[in-house]
Amino acid sequence: MTKKIFNSIFWTAMCVFIAAFFLIEAASYYYDTVDSKKQLIYTTDNIARAMNDGESDFLSSFSEKGYRMTWIAKNGVVLYDNQSNASKMDNHLSRPEVQAALKNGTGESERYSNTILKTEIYYAVRLKDGTVLRSAMVLNSFWWRILSELQIIIFIFIVIVVASLIVAKGLAEALTRPLNNIDLDHPMKSMRKDYKEIMPLIERLEAEQGAMRNEERMREEAEELRREFTANVSHELKTPIHTISGYTELLKNGLVQEKDLGEFSEKIYKETQRMSKLVQDIIELSHLDEGASNMEWQENDLAAIARLCVDRLKPLAEENHITLQFWSVPVKMRCIPTLLEEVVTNLTENAIKYNRKDGVVTVSVQKDGLGENAILTVQDTGIGIPKEHIDRIFERFYRVDKSHSRAVGGTGLGLSIVKHAILIHKGKIDVDSTPGVGTTMKVTIPVNL
Ligand code: ADP
Repeated sequence: MTKKIFNSIFWTAMCVFIAAFFLIEAASYYYDTVDSKKQLIYTTDNIARAMNDGESDFLSSFSEKGYRMTWIAKNGVVLYDNQSNASKMDNHLSRPEVQAALKNGTGESERYSNTILKTEIYYAVRLKDGTVLRSAMVLNSFWWRILSELQIIIFIFIVIVVASLIVAKGLAEALTRPLNNIDLDHPMKSMRKDYKEIMPLIERLEAEQGAMRNEERMREEAEELRREFTANVSHELKTPIHTISGYTELLKNGLVQEKDLGEFSEKIYKETQRMSKLVQDIIELSHLDEGASNMEWQENDLAAIARLCVDRLKPLAEENHITLQFWSVPVKMRCIPTLLEEVVTNLTENAIKYNRKDGVVTVSVQKDGLGENAILTVQDTGIGIPKEHIDRIFERFYRVDKSHSRAVGGTGLGLSIVKHAILIHKGKIDVDSTPGVGTTMKVTIPVNL
């Protein structure tokens, strides 16, 4: 980050510096040149005037001022030069400034010397007697001037580097400080509201935190449920195992009389049946927990499925002196038939188990008014469910009356399986119950999923 900020500050400063430097240099060079030229012309004109008035020896006094003065005859022969021996100088007639002076009275020219990076400026005036007075001066070229300021340039360059470094470091620190100070558990609280630029980041962090907290809570809840379930399963299995091991121990030690053998075997059989049912229900539930993914969806008639289940339960109903009634209209629907079998069987079984002697159970299958939903109703004339328990009977292992449930061979898992199976079909179940009068379970499932 420091490097990036340094780069931008450094290059901005460099560009500004170079542009400003060259502009100022160019302007001052231009004005200096114009000024020097003016000075040269002014001085030369003055000397020419003096010479026209007959003061030819006036010339020699100007060498110290840095001007070169040359007096040239009409034919180009050098008559006098204040810096060289005139007799050794070549003919000056061809010089452009001399030509111009002879022709127009005055002439100017400039010659640039690449090797010494200097410019020579010439000015010539024709005198009254036809001779020409020429002056010359040497001006440093623009590039010579730049080179002569190299030390300043290098100094400013170093200043820019150092200043950019310091500013970049300070800026990087100032920019990252609020980021480093963010409290990841409470991003919004730990943030000053005036840092608008990093608000989107804070909001994202906050949202992520929220999602994480939510996930954590759900995980904890799921973990709690799992723990509770395991504890319940162990507890439920322990009772029949205890009973079975008690009875078998008596049998093993020959403590059971011949006439009681049948009763003992019956008890052991019942307990193993209960265990087997419990294990079956647990397997079924874990299947549903995985979303019944390996189960097959089919087009099927709910009425046919329900009729089959009710027929299977007839012996149980007779055993309990219950009249089992069934009526239906065909309801074709997309469904997982095995799950719907579970629903009908569990509800009807409960209606029989929690009924009174000589009670009635009515199972019906129909469609709702618009034909969009299948309606399965299981109605009994049984003991009913007290209001405060209705919401909880769908929880795993929840029973209104534990001993009654056990006595009728319940596992406490039947209604959890029912609820789960209905949810997979995107349906719902309503319970209407009056203690002592009876219960009606109404399942509604959309026909076209
Ligand atoms: P169980 O194996 O104990 O029957 P369920 O999950 O099927 O477990 O039912 C939970 C509890 O709801 C039962 O123990 C019972 O107390 C109550 N219940 C369910 N159906 C009926 C019903 N038709 N009439 C009265 N109580 C019922």
